[in-house]
Amino acid sequence: MQMLSSQVQGYLKSSSWIRKMFEAGLELKAKYGEDAVCDFSLGNPDLAPPKAVAQGLHDIAATAERPFAFGYMPNFGYPSTRKALAGHLAQEQGVAVEPGDLVLTCGAAGAINSLLRAVLEPGDEVICPAPYFVEYGFYVQNYGGTLRPVPARPLTFELDLPAMEAAITERTRIVLINSPNNPSGAVYTRAELQGLAAILARKTAEFGRPIYLAADEPYRFLTFDGCEVPSVLPLYPYSVVVSSFSKCLSLAGERVGYALVNPAMPDKATLVAGIVLANRILGFVNAPAIGQMLAERALGSQVNLAVYAERRKAMTTVLDEAGYTFTMPKGAFYFFPQAPGGDDVAFCAALQEERILAVPGSGFGCPGFFRLAFCVGEEVINRSAEGFAKALARF
Ligand code: PLP
Repeated sequence: MQMLSSQVQGYLKSSSWIRKMFEAGLELKAKYGEDAVCDFSLGNPDLAPPKAVAQGLHDIAATAERPFAFGYMPNFGYPSTRKALAGHLAQEQGVAVEPGDLVLTCGAAGAINSLLRAVLEPGDEVICPAPYFVEYGFYVQNYGGTLRPVPARPLTFELDLPAMEAAITERTRIVLINSPNNPSGAVYTRAELQGLAAILARKTAEFGRPIYLAADEPYRFLTFDGCEVPSVLPLYPYSVVVSSFSKCLSLAGERVGYALVNPAMPDKATLVAGIVLANRILGFVNAPAIGQMLAERALGSQVNLAVYAERRKAMTTVLDEAGYTFTMPKGAFYFFPQAPGGDDVAFCAALQEERILAVPGSGFGCPGFFRLAFCVGEEVINRSAEGFAKALARF
């Protein structure tokens, strides 16, 4: 009996590397004990949310007995959250933002899905630099589109603008970028973004249909050594920022994020209306009530960035001393070193024998590398040193 659509059946068969590592990790932990395994496979922020979140929950609890305390709301979210977030994002992005430019969503994932649902025709293409967040491929296929990854420049993971331009066709509907990048840690410079904006403006004029630039920014808050994350909004009118509070407030399970349509986009109200409708008909209906209330109260707070900076330093020492080749991440909480020997799957298997869990770059459209998420305690990073050295010695 065919229980599933052939597409989902196919997805299940070729389950993602992150999932495979997760399952391997459970096995290793059951066999050797939690403390014997160094698990760098998951980007689940382990830092406690900032104090404003606990305080916010306390305040929300005090209002919980009112009628409609958590009832349905407009599909774009609570008007008060929208307004407060507009003020916050105006500062962050350096442009004037109206509450009406914003839609509250179920995380950045919900924002990307709602945007795709609103603008993609079946057969349309979405271009993204590779390596990329693996879920993008599924999201685009949800709406009959095709993801067209374009390799970033080797080792630095900068945008390869000529290659991106060459990949654009009349079917291209969105260019989806993610900076700071998961998994490479790259942060695109203003010059790279200006170059991309110029290409998109030219192609949009040529084809007579907007090619949207979607900037997926859940790691915007987390950069190192004073690195700046330039906003795409002043550079290109058909741009949309999608982001969330999953990482900056460690609220990943509460599913609250947003889509911010460029305030300067021609006919922006139509795109906002499309995203709001998509948010509804995809069954999200609206972003979670408590998540929005929390985000509104905690705007401007964030997790303790110094902890991530220290871990990045510790991980650098471990990888350097063992002799790995990698580009220093400028932002986000991932390292993306080269896999010794070139076979990322084989190398991750070797790491597993040392009870270290990493994800092969193949899972991010970039074979030959592996990803390490440093949202783990510094003691785990330090403990992994011997295993990293031993695995490398075998290749
Ligand atoms: N985009 C990127 C690049 C991510 O790494 C993630 C989560 O890890 C998401 C989007 C989805 O995040 P959210 O929890 O906001 O849906």
